[in-house]
Amino acid sequence: MAKKKKKSAESYSLTSLLIHGQSRDKHWDYRHHVVPPMSCSTSYRLDSAARGAQGFAEFGADSSGEQKAPIYIYDRLGEPTRDMLEEALATAERGEIAVTFASGMAAVAAALNVCAVSDEHIVAHHVLYGSTYSLLKNWLPKFRIVSTLANLNDAQELQRSIRPNTRVVYFETPANPNLELIDIAAVKRAVDAANALRKPAQQIRILVDNTFASPFCQRPIEHGVDLVIHSLTKGICGFGTDMGGVVIGARRFLPSLLSYRKDFGGVLSPKAAWPILVYGLSTMSLRVKKQEQTALAVAEFLAQHAKVAAVHYPGLPSFPQYALARRQMTDYDGNFAPGSLVYFIVKGSLTKSRKLAERLIDHIAAESYTITLAVSLGQVRTLVEHPSSMTHSSVPLDQQVHEGIDPGGVRLSIGLEEPGDLIRDLDHALKKI
Ligand SMILES: *Cc1c(COP(=O)(O)O)cnc(C)c1O
Repeated sequence: MAKKKKKSAESYSLTSLLIHGQSRDKHWDYRHHVVPPMSCSTSYRLDSAARGAQGFAEFGADSSGEQKAPIYIYDRLGEPTRDMLEEALATAERGEIAVTFASGMAAVAAALNVCAVSDEHIVAHHVLYGSTYSLLKNWLPKFRIVSTLANLNDAQELQRSIRPNTRVVYFETPANPNLELIDIAAVKRAVDAANALRKPAQQIRILVDNTFASPFCQRPIEHGVDLVIHSLTKGICGFGTDMGGVVIGARRFLPSLLSYRKDFGGVLSPKAAWPILVYGLSTMSLRVKKQEQTALAVAEFLAQHAKVAAVHYPGLPSFPQYALARRQMTDYDGNFAPGSLVYFIVKGSLTKSRKLAERLIDHIAAESYTITLAVSLGQVRTLVEHPSSMTHSSVPLDQQVHEGIDPGGVRLSIGLEEPGDLIRDLDHALKKI
């Protein structure tokens, strides 16, 4: 029975696979459950010394193609609910394997640490998630892993930044907060050219934080990158209830990722894995599709508003990288999938627009029913924030401007409300400034 189901499952759409799973009885015998159970056991009965020894020997080994259940020993090494989530996440990104972590940052740290060791070098795009920037700047240098921040959309700058000891090229696309895209294929071409002259141990890996797009809108592995990272906390969990992270890629990365997780210890709790698997992944396609329709309506409304200087939404034909967005961001059915984040800039000089954006946010916080002032993204509720004074406030103002973080910029993460309600609340707040 199980075998038959697994064989035929691959021919179904990813949306259906994320609801039904791939191998419903490999990790745990729950054939008679409709919903995967949440397992809560930090250690596992081993039956005999020999079985215990076998369990340790098999840890981290490639179990693909095996139909027998793995020997579980201890939660931090491996655990069935999390394993089921990892299988679904690998499916969602079209990767071979996925390893989850306690948070997105734990996943970022793991991916970088398994790809670079001391005296090696990382090239990263200059616009990065704040904690990733701090990890590169403040912590990895303690392991003698140094980074160069560069504009990865500038092919020459990328080429110039690559050193003999470079092992990683790292970026987010769309980038936070202004939704600038990185051309994945162009970076891949540059890295391939550098790798052609290198021995296998010196190859440069491409790592992409795909959190902003979600796997529904963009699968960088299809464009040739080595590892994809997600903060599961955002659009994959989708309800704002649980934190998590994941690294997805080729099977050859599995032993080092599992060993890193075992020893650094940032495991995802099965109690957090369960809602991400049961509620998050199974509804992701539905949620993101609706969010995209609403995001386009909101972006179109903002684009014609007299108090708005510019709107960045990859789905708007006026988006500067619209052609790239259409090439790179596609959903599971091949449709254009520009995501659920919208960034817009309030009209005015640098100092004036910053004040107006803060006032707009305050009006929204005080009076809007459908838009919530809060960080994070990808939830069922629409969230708004002012990057210049909030998420990106650690970047000095002149550097903000240089990096495309406008003082008057406002970031919206679109939820599942009716578009008309969001537009009404935005219109009301814009009238007040
Ligand atoms: C939130 C976020 C992270 C960090 O994830 P946590 O789950 O908060 O640790 C990393 N990258 C991006 C792009 C994010 O939005």
